[in-house]
Amino acid sequence: MITAIRGMKDILPPETRRWQAVEQTAREVFALYGYQEIRLPLLERTELFARSIGQETDIVAKEMYTFLDRRGESVTLRPEATAQVVRAVLENRLLHGAGVKKYYTLGPMFRYERPQKGRYRQFHQINCEALGSDAPELDAEVILLLLELLQRLGLGQVRLLLNSLGCPACQQEFRARLALYLRQQTGWCHDCQRRRDTNPLRVLDCKSQHCRELLAGAPVMLDFLCPACKQHYSRVKALLAAQTLEEAPRLVRGLDYYTRTTFEVVATSLGAQDAVAGGGRYNGLVKELGGPDLPGLGFAIGQERLMELLPNKETKSSPLVFLVALGTQPRERAFRLLQQLRQAGLASDMDFEERSLKAQMSLAHRRGAALVVIMGERELETDEVILRDMTTSRQQTIPTDCLLPRLAEQLAGCQSNSFGNTAIIGGVTG
Ligand SMILES: [Zn+2]
Ligand SMILES: [Zn+2]
Repeated sequence: MITAIRGMKDILPPETRRWQAVEQTAREVFALYGYQEIRLPLLERTELFARSIGQETDIVAKEMYTFLDRRGESVTLRPEATAQVVRAVLENRLLHGAGVKKYYTLGPMFRYERPQKGRYRQFHQINCEALGSDAPELDAEVILLLLELLQRLGLGQVRLLLNSLGCPACQQEFRARLALYLRQQTGWCHDCQRRRDTNPLRVLDCKSQHCRELLAGAPVMLDFLCPACKQHYSRVKALLAAQTLEEAPRLVRGLDYYTRTTFEVVATSLGAQDAVAGGGRYNGLVKELGGPDLPGLGFAIGQERLMELLPNKETKSSPLVFLVALGTQPRERAFRLLQQLRQAGLASDMDFEERSLKAQMSLAHRRGAALVVIMGERELETDEVILRDMTTSRQQTIPTDCLLPRLAEQLAGCQSNSFGNTAIIGGVTG
């Protein structure tokens, strides 16, 4: 038997229905805020990520799904979306014209991490990117959009962590002071000893418990903000005043291109502390990728994590009509009827295995049919069908011509009812 690749996961029904519901809500909220969907390839030139995310990051150094294609070009399965969105925006000249450019994208990302519980090599993100303005209102809008989406999804209690990473000008002094601190302390992990010389900011993001403890006394970026960055940060906080936010002076993101506003949303339901989304400004990125000096910001929601945290409520499906037919001719008739019902917008199905009446009825029951339409040789002769309401078990014989309006009528009743009702239409007799 051929199995899936290690670290890759199938998403199966009925779980897929929950995913669809989440994605549907995301699309609705993005539309409310003026964001349009952008769909991008999964494969890009390796150079795109190496240049944007940063050579020193864990992602580029250890976690990328990189390989040579048949012509020897190095290509990479996207580890994140921002660099890609910027690449597409520049390549397709989407920056032309007035106004902030607002995009969202949903889909899989890839990182070659050691597979562990809840972490997959192919995972999914909901991404939001806004390009073209440095206004604090845009920072606030992106954060409010994220919070509204999570609230509509029913995530429950969350914490909003906020920080500013400043601009290259104010980062310069901070970097020097941080580097000094990193040299003064001993006991950094192997990676951090390297980062200390190449990119000291990366040390702030180290996951080693010991490094984290050592960092407790390190200088924080907020103390080094230049006047412009300081003002930007306080405007963002003022615009978010209605939200409960927590300043998190040690919050950094695992990628090199972040500037100014940086944020993370942590779900606190069930007593756990799970980061479900993170984002921030990346004002230098567009220029770094060969475009104009254009500011931008965005966020990514980790969809697997999100799905685990959301309440497991039943999603509604349309009530089903199941057709039960016995004998070759009644089956043909049922099959034609099936297509008519579907064309009329009624979810319907039938047995495809020529089972007995009893077996077809039990299949209808297992499928959760709300109504069953039954037809056999006798009904074929009289041009009638038997309609059975699976909830009340009431059964009546009606002319085939009356079936469609009758189904529509009965289903209107079921719809308000609840999830999982299926109408079964079939021909029982014989
Ligand atoms: Zn600054
Ligand atoms: Zn470390």
